Amino acid sequence: MRLTYAKKGGRLRLLEWQGREILRQEGIEVPQGEVVESPEAARAVAERLGKPVVLKAQVPVGGRGKAGGIRLAQSPEEAEALARQMLGSSLKGILVRKLLVVEAVEPKAEHYLGLTLDRRARVPLFLYSPKGGVDIEEVAKETPELLAKVHVPPLEGPLGFRLRRLFSLAPQHLRPALMEIARKLWSVFFRYEAHLVEINPLAEVDGKLLALDAKIIIDDDHSPGPQFAGLEEEVVDPLEAEARKLGMSYVRLDGDIGILGNGAGLVMATLDLVAQAGGRPANFLDIGGGARAERVKAGVELILRDGRAKVLFVNVFGGITRCDEVAKGLVEALSGKNIPVVIRLVGTNEEEGQRILASAGFFPVREMEEGAAKAVALAKEE
Ligand code: GDP
Ligand code: MN
Repeated sequence: MRLTYAKKGGRLRLLEWQGREILRQEGIEVPQGEVVESPEAARAVAERLGKPVVLKAQVPVGGRGKAGGIRLAQSPEEAEALARQMLGSSLKGILVRKLLVVEAVEPKAEHYLGLTLDRRARVPLFLYSPKGGVDIEEVAKETPELLAKVHVPPLEGPLGFRLRRLFSLAPQHLRPALMEIARKLWSVFFRYEAHLVEINPLAEVDGKLLALDAKIIIDDDHSPGPQFAGLEEEVVDPLEAEARKLGMSYVRLDGDIGILGNGAGLVMATLDLVAQAGGRPANFLDIGGGARAERVKAGVELILRDGRAKVLFVNVFGGITRCDEVAKGLVEALSGKNIPVVIRLVGTNEEEGQRILASAGFFPVREMEEGAAKAVALAKEE
């Protein structure tokens, strides 16, 4: 698989679906489901599962539940509608490109199980709590008596007596299953040279334990190493690769409104506005800072080449990027094309930019909300 992750001081946090795949391959049970990139695919998975599903935004941050990144759908139709809202929106400032669609389960209890490297002792440390599903730091602070910590020397491995101590807080009937999962986590921890392997919640469902979430943090030196061989390959989007070569960041989304802007934050806000106005972005395109006419032109061409955009919405805030350059690039790229265009262009050299646009017959909007509404209306007409 191509690893997508959050990078933080030499550490990589795998996305949930990747971590889940690793746990599954180790023989740890996970809920049935699949990762998807479109509302239609979300619907198909829900249809195949034939029961209510949970849609989970694949972003490398925790606390997704509270932020609206985990939603329950009762029917395939609802799964499709929710997926449409979630895909292409931003969650905690990160673009949601994939959803994990899994069968909804009714846990009887939620446990926590983690294995990390205790950096002070330089020894792997298992953590277990019968009170999972919540932030483990919170458990450590508020009910430390419900958090068990057991060091395991690497050369010794997870021997029975240590695991029995770890799970002394666990209900009797779950202890054998917990010990088996702990041993599997141990294997994963060493195979992937992980800093952290965590299952929270590890849910008790019908007397069995299911990993409802998977968090794996690895060292970026070791990734993607040979230990990742055999995991599902992710196809690299050729337009994405081309954009990167041109110094831009492009992501294909599922809608029909082409988006071009400068700065990841502004582009993300634009996607959100379009979604709020009832439209669906066809892509994310950040032309970067200080773009000259040439790069703007290349950006527009990328969106046109993709071919799914019925309308183009340009939202540029000129700072180091000059509005006249942007206007020049737009006019060059759009001359002779008959795609409807909505432009918001404010900031450095704005008057000159507006003049260039006007002489080519383009009349920009002032506010981005107005632009989003207009773009959505035009897309509906097309
Ligand atoms: P996180 O908040 O980013 O760590 O995301 P999690 O995957 O841990 O999910 C957060 C919470 O959503 C879990 O603690 C569960 O309580 C709940 N949840 C996730 N999947 C299911 C499910 O299939 N059924 C039910 N009932 N709750 C779920
Ligand atoms: Mn979790």
